[in-house]
Amino acid sequence: KKILIVGGVAGGASTATRLRRLDEDSEIIIFERGEYVSFANCGLPYYIGGVIQNRESLLVQTPESLKARFNLDVRVNSEVIEVNGKDKKVKVKTKNGEEYEETYDFLVLAPGAKPIFPPIKGIENKKIFTLRNINDMDKIKAEIKKHNVKKATVVGGGYVGVETAENLKHLGIDTTLIEAAPHILAPFDSEISNILEYELVNNGINLMTSEKVVEFQEDKNEINIKLESEKIVTADMVILSIGVSPDTKFLQNSGINLGERGHILVNDKLETNIDGVYALGDSIIVKNYITNEDCAIPLAGPANRQGRIVAGNIAGREEKYGGSLGTAIIKIFELTGASTGLNERALKQLNISYEKIYLHPNNHAAYYPGATPITIKVIYNKKNRQVLGAQAVGINGVDKFIDVIATSIKFKATIDDLTELELAYAPPFLSAKSPANMVGFIGE
Ligand code: FAD
Repeated sequence: KKILIVGGVAGGASTATRLRRLDEDSEIIIFERGEYVSFANCGLPYYIGGVIQNRESLLVQTPESLKARFNLDVRVNSEVIEVNGKDKKVKVKTKNGEEYEETYDFLVLAPGAKPIFPPIKGIENKKIFTLRNINDMDKIKAEIKKHNVKKATVVGGGYVGVETAENLKHLGIDTTLIEAAPHILAPFDSEISNILEYELVNNGINLMTSEKVVEFQEDKNEINIKLESEKIVTADMVILSIGVSPDTKFLQNSGINLGERGHILVNDKLETNIDGVYALGDSIIVKNYITNEDCAIPLAGPANRQGRIVAGNIAGREEKYGGSLGTAIIKIFELTGASTGLNERALKQLNISYEKIYLHPNNHAAYYPGATPITIKVIYNKKNRQVLGAQAVGINGVDKFIDVIATSIKFKATIDDLTELELAYAPPFLSAKSPANMVGFIGE
């Protein structure tokens, strides 16, 4: 068998390595447009801030290591520009402009998603940067150094924007974060994101919510960011992170079904409408695990797990992807915020009747030194009592709590089931009645 994979980072690399584990003989070729494969996108903001100091540690694998360990043919600086599903071949363009074709038995599309550039006046300004890959990160680092950046503005208060703002602040840069919506971090309801916003402000980030950028203007060595409110923010550089859109332009004439915004449409085996062509990761539409509705969830965990499933299916194992919950977590200075499942805003839109529980337990026994509170919100279905979602903010223990709830939702637990969870307890780690048990007790 000959298998071609488009995109060599999270989803593409996972597919390839799993495929090799399942099948020693197939020819597996990965095409990656960029210079690097299998790098740690999630670490990029932390290298900018100097928290991660070793750039090489972000390069999880190299073409050479993938060849040596998994016998993969990895071709970097190679962009797939056309897919011909009828004749089962793709056209590849190399960095120096050469084009060639490659045939396949199976094709895996993992091109990911790219930062959105809105059609705002002045958007092409050279002081505007985005952060998706190692090259973007290098450019941001170089700009900070070369122009001795003192003032930066991040536009967009999603995960990447907030992490980048924190890391710029670590470097001593005066940082403004502008968000068009009333609150940052859309997965949280407003009373929870409020706490995270306080943390940003308390740490010196100039946070501007409900502010929409309408124009970027060059101003000598600076850039002026004009807002709809007529305010003007001045910066030495701008990081634009208002979201991502699927990187699927090369599929436009391929006959592969795409959604309204260009996402690749797949069935539960992650197969497209074209025989032998699979897709995964940030570029596809998935089912929401709870509601079964179509949605886009651009996260590393789902991309990696989908990679395993695609590999399994190509190897003839009949594996299915059961949908995404959107479980996510963020560190904001001293605080951690995490969420899973549906929030209240989503439930109102879906007209699902729900109950919610708030509580503020300690992360471990109060009498053991160092206990800190966690603010918790859990939402469950009023009719069948199934847990639908949770959000938590605190200093410690937030990751553990959310992962327990995410696991419970995955196994369709009701709020009452949480009373029965038996979790690892000793005073330095948890309370005998864990926060998850407490949620259940309140809901009973
Ligand atoms: P990608 O990892 O983006 O890989 C796609 C690759 O395909 C790209 O390298 C691209 O160059 C290549 N490509 C595209 N088109 C072509 C073509 N035509 N030919 C050849 N190659 C092509 N997720 C989390 O869950 N937690 C986090 O903390 C987190 N932090 C993040 C921080 C940053 C700064 C960024 C940018 C993302 C972060 N993510 C995080 C999201 C996560 O990285 C993505 O969900 C994940 O990488 C998606 O995997 P993917 O394989 O679909 O796409």
